[in-house]
Amino acid sequence: MSLVPVCVELAPRPRPGPLVAAPATATVFGAGRSGIAAADLLLDHGYRVRLTDSNSTLELENACRPLARRGAAISLGEQSASFAAGSDFIVISPGIDERAELFSAPELAGIPVFGEVEIAYWYSPLPLVAVTGTNGKSTTVSLLGRILAEAGIKNKVAGNIGLALCSAVRNLSDEAVIVAEISSFQLHSVESFHPRVGLLLNLSPDHLERYDTVEQYYRAKFRLFKHMASNDLAVFNAADANTAKRKELAGDVPSAWFSLREQPRSLAYADESHLRIRTADGSPAEIVRLEDVPLRGAHNVENILAASCAALACGVSPREIGRAVRAFEGLPHRLEQVGSVAGVTYVNDSKATTVDSVARALESFTEPLVLIMGGRHKGAPFTAIADEVNRRVRAIVAIGEAAEIIEKDLGKATQVILADSLEQAVAQAREQARAGDAVLLCPGCSSFDMFTSYEQRGDAFRRIVGEMARSDA
Ligand code: ADP
Repeated sequence: MSLVPVCVELAPRPRPGPLVAAPATATVFGAGRSGIAAADLLLDHGYRVRLTDSNSTLELENACRPLARRGAAISLGEQSASFAAGSDFIVISPGIDERAELFSAPELAGIPVFGEVEIAYWYSPLPLVAVTGTNGKSTTVSLLGRILAEAGIKNKVAGNIGLALCSAVRNLSDEAVIVAEISSFQLHSVESFHPRVGLLLNLSPDHLERYDTVEQYYRAKFRLFKHMASNDLAVFNAADANTAKRKELAGDVPSAWFSLREQPRSLAYADESHLRIRTADGSPAEIVRLEDVPLRGAHNVENILAASCAALACGVSPREIGRAVRAFEGLPHRLEQVGSVAGVTYVNDSKATTVDSVARALESFTEPLVLIMGGRHKGAPFTAIADEVNRRVRAIVAIGEAAEIIEKDLGKATQVILADSLEQAVAQAREQARAGDAVLLCPGCSSFDMFTSYEQRGDAFRRIVGEMARSDA
């Protein structure tokens, strides 16, 4: 069997169309970015729309006003089943837990529930390349967008990454394809959603606040492939045991595999000198030399290999893939180098909010590290990384609500210093670091005790390091 089972034809094809035809009444739950976008798209297509959110802030009111002017009924400040009673279907935002009591109210019995990405699919004129997985989605979709652009395939990157899929669908110009980042929550209520290429990057336990078991979370991810067919392509990580074990959940969709080391079934892989990908006759072609990979970390090599498989299936040559990979600087807040002061490199990994992502970051450095960790604890013990910390970390400066937990869990593995603010933490880290070290903001915690988001935390770190570099110059 050829390792490149299909070259996916990206020309738009006839699609089934909406599962509930307009005019009909839709109630959208959640007035965040995706709920507003879904309401707008449905109004465009002649549906009667109701929109509700349990919060009522000035910001939400302002966001809903244009919809009200277009005829939508808006209810903010409480969510009741009676508001949705009599609707023909419900659209649920990914942040809303459909296990909530509200959704089993008798008024809503029998009303179909769709997710925002399902609505986007009904009206998308373009083929979709969709990326899911526990980690690496944003990096992979961003890179894939750049690779396709490098090859002259105009595309829009959307989904969980900022621009709601329904917004992307409403604002197309001459793009040929949509590259979509899809979370597990967005896959709960898809009924016809059908990407032409689907990537599952990896599976590890996450979001247990929304799932009764980890198996449910893994199965939600596989819904990406539910409607894919024999002329589509599924891309999997050959080294991910959680994926390989459940591969049959993807049905008969032709598949391609990537892996850090060459395996007989790998379409894309790394050897000791290059990232490579097999072309139609099975012979390996160079993507890039390892030394030219601009991103740190084996996990990023996996993301590059995954994006390369999808790009090859879309008809991009290995040479064009390589050109885009070499020019890709990565995303902010993910192992982002933000400065160098007195021979010490400062790296912002504010997006690393889980213990697992701290482990990934530690593996990505050869130089000794001073870590800045802490924030709001997400529950998993830090002891899981104690050995690695002991081997690689000169000191940890701990901040936020989790500081004492970090001290308790990792105090035997390395020196842990407590600090009251990020400014103090950077100053302490600077004192501990020696020339040749890296200071890494890698919280292993969410930001919400001290910041509004991981972006705000990373921006603050970048600013503090910038000021330090300027006063040092
Ligand atoms: P996502 O969009 O899935 O959250 P990102 O690309 O934003 O993924 O990366 C978030 C964090 O996940 C990174 O800072 C890194 O710690 C980790 N990560 C990224 N790619 C991978 C991967 N392929 N495998 C494991 N961890 C990864």
